[in-house]
Amino acid sequence: MTAPTLEGDQNVQPLIEMHDVVREYEIGGERVRALNRVSLTIEHGEYVAIMGPSGSGKSTTMNMVGCLDVPTSGTYRLDGIDVASLNDNELAALRNLKIGFVFQQFNLLSRTTALQNVELPMMYAGVSRKEQRARAEEALAKVGLSNRLQNRPNELSGGQQQRVSIARALVNRPALLLADEPTGALDSHTTEEILELFEDLHHQGHTIVIVTHEAEVGRRAKRIIRFVDGQVASDSHSGSRSGPQPSDSRPHSQSDSVLSVSARVSPTPEPLSSEPPSSEPVGEVF
Ligand code: ADP
Ligand code: MG
Repeated sequence: MTAPTLEGDQNVQPLIEMHDVVREYEIGGERVRALNRVSLTIEHGEYVAIMGPSGSGKSTTMNMVGCLDVPTSGTYRLDGIDVASLNDNELAALRNLKIGFVFQQFNLLSRTTALQNVELPMMYAGVSRKEQRARAEEALAKVGLSNRLQNRPNELSGGQQQRVSIARALVNRPALLLADEPTGALDSHTTEEILELFEDLHHQGHTIVIVTHEAEVGRRAKRIIRFVDGQVASDSHSGSRSGPQPSDSRPHSQSDSVLSVSARVSPTPEPLSSEPPSSEPVGEVF
């Protein structure tokens, strides 16, 4: 077998491909099945919300998609790469190459400026100092914060802090923006601001997967995957909005656990600069 390359090929394979994924936990001799044979496919360029009641398996799915966890059984391919074939270091490398994380609580370093927060992931990625600065400025411009480069998190509003964290997630040019309750700590006005930003990023070709409890946040995505009891209970495309859409408009079954969208050629996210992304592993998760 040839060694897996971490580059993948976005024109050939889905970005996310789970087949019959089971994740079981053992607590006090008892087995809890957090995911029960989940199969789903997400293509490059999609904007997806993952919803469902508490305990339904959303976080477990996010951890799986984000390569923070691997299936007990079944397969997960990220950009064509079977995560089960990777050791911990390779998994970390894949994660840092492919995924930008956004969290409910922003997870910014409080004593450093917006610019430094966004530069941080590139320090681990072996990007030159000059290039770090240029790319961080560009990422912050992309989220509308060119005028807040030198501000520390406590000098920024909640919405601005979340925009810094989105800039940080984008700065290594990941294939996937993965957000866990990104508006959970924001008021409705600020939530709207962040939803507009996600919409912009979607139109630019970024692939976005959001876990959310909020109906309005889910409604703004182009596809909602609902989990109940560790299984996909429904999977619906809105189709009514503009932006990248699957070229195949076959209706999707509401209850079928195999929910694949046909392969299609997807747009490439607008690069933040002309340099190719570094494939060096990053030691932290952002
Ligand atoms: P959600 O994010 O939708 O609330 P989770 O994915 O966190 O759901 O959890 C799904 C199920 O798996 C729940 O029954 C939860 O108690 C269980 N679970 C999740 N993580 C663990 C863990 N680390 N150890 C044991 N059980 C877990
Ligand atoms: Mg959860």
